Amino acid sequence: MKILIKQVLLQDKIVDILIKDNLISEISTTINDSEAEVFDARDLAVIPPFYNMHTHSSMTLLRGYCEDKPLFEWLNNIWKKEAELSSQDIYNGTRLAILEMIKSGTVFFADMYWHHQSIIKACQEMGIRANIGICFMNNLGKETIKENFDFAKQFSKTNNDLVNISIAPHAIYTCDAQLYKECYEFAKENNLYFHTHLSETQKEVEDSIKQYGMPPVEYLNSIGVLDNKTILAHCVHLTEKEAEIISQNKSIIAHNPCSNMKLASGVFDSRQAMKHNCIITLGTDGNSSNNSLSMIEEMKFASLLAKVHYQDSEAGNSDEVFKWATINGAKAMGINAGEICEGKEADLLFIKLNDEKMQPNYNTISNIIYSSDTKCIDSVMCNGKFLMKHGYVEGEEEIIEIAKTYK
Ligand SMILES: [Zn+2]
Repeated sequence: MKILIKQVLLQDKIVDILIKDNLISEISTTINDSEAEVFDARDLAVIPPFYNMHTHSSMTLLRGYCEDKPLFEWLNNIWKKEAELSSQDIYNGTRLAILEMIKSGTVFFADMYWHHQSIIKACQEMGIRANIGICFMNNLGKETIKENFDFAKQFSKTNNDLVNISIAPHAIYTCDAQLYKECYEFAKENNLYFHTHLSETQKEVEDSIKQYGMPPVEYLNSIGVLDNKTILAHCVHLTEKEAEIISQNKSIIAHNPCSNMKLASGVFDSRQAMKHNCIITLGTDGNSSNNSLSMIEEMKFASLLAKVHYQDSEAGNSDEVFKWATINGAKAMGINAGEICEGKEADLLFIKLNDEKMQPNYNTISNIIYSSDTKCIDSVMCNGKFLMKHGYVEGEEEIIEIAKTYK
């Protein structure tokens, strides 16, 4: 299978790009290949798509439910509502989330939720890359915890190309040390990522100090569950020592600025994390605390939040924030993509240069972050296949019709 992309703007040059199977095989001024399917990309720019490093996809069904509450009050309400959702609901919600993600240029998401089999099914059907966190909390009970481990064991043995799983203890206020250690050891044995919420609110930090005598990152480090396959969602309230611990362990920070602002959790100190050479990636969190899965929006908020926080217009630099949303996430997840070069997997995002929000085009990346929105996206390719072509995602009408039945 070959696709020849003709006359696309890549950085500041018009080029042709040949995709062979799932790889970018050649990038050159002119390529001719009579066997390839041609994609006319005149008036389009190509950039790497987005890697959403922390979300709860099917919370899309709770978009707009229980608004304007602080995290713990919000969580208590959400948990009650979530208990009513069936695995079919989760499947429907995940498909709606994936549609929203594809339409906004995302080709990968790291998830954490219940009814993981429904989430996996939706991802596999829609062709998106995903890492599905199998969620653990003490109050699930021993039987469900065992079932989750059994499922993870079985699934990790299957040959999975685009959809993988991680072990995801929810947070330090819902999982005790024993469960964290059990989860971590299991993840290690089965070569899986480990995904948890950490240091999201000041209250979590205060409770951690009261209960364990140390803040959350120090605590997880003390029980030995941090390494380079650990995704730490939020990291809003870190000490210098904790930023250093994350850096030494090469753990992955998933920064979720919109959710942190909406739940009034605080501001992630990106300069502190950068000073310690931490790996910073970007996530949207769930649609119930954002309420959007658009990484374009997330980049803009990440940048503007940093500028306001530091009272410095050079903070939240657009090139840096773009890396958080693209190559940093891909690299952290071991995906050979996130940049457009020969030999990389063909994850591509095509932007309409004819859109009024993209002109004049002094700087494509800053136009995308500060000016564009999802309507500027023309097409999305994941691993050599179009997930969206000229604005259309297969089956989108049905997904929307089903979503309308929820309220
Ligand atoms: Zn979350």
